[in-house]
Amino acid sequence: MPTETIFSKIIRKEIPASIVYQDELVTAFRDIHPQAPTHVLIVPNKLIPTVSDVTAEDEAAIGRMFTAARKIAEQEGIAASGYRLIVNCKQHGGQEVYHLHMHLLGGKQLGRMLPQ
Ligand code: 5GP
Repeated sequence: MPTETIFSKIIRKEIPASIVYQDELVTAFRDIHPQAPTHVLIVPNKLIPTVSDVTAEDEAAIGRMFTAARKIAEQEGIAASGYRLIVNCKQHGGQEVYHLHMHLLGGKQLGRMLPQ
């Protein structure tokens, strides 16, 4: 069994977080260290550590992460101006929390995705 992270406790509402969306497959909450005016993390309720651990069984939850992203962007008023979705994977990807998550960033003009 993979080791739980703080995100599982947030999903179960055992520790506080600013949850902006939750359904039976995914939970979304504001990042504790926002990198943009809107910075929300969208996570599967099931503990999937990294993209490398995704299986065909997870396709409903992975798809739901995108429909949740679209809804949250509308709620946040950034759907028209646009936004960025990022999923980091393992060390070289810069992943710090090993519970798969998608960053939803927007509310300002974002810079280049990668330094030149
Ligand atoms: P990663 O680098 O793994 O893609 O991103 C992890 C993100 O989780 C970081 O942006 C970090 O600020 C956020 N984070 C870490 N711990 C917590 C927490 O306890 N609560 C919330 N809301 N965000 C967290």
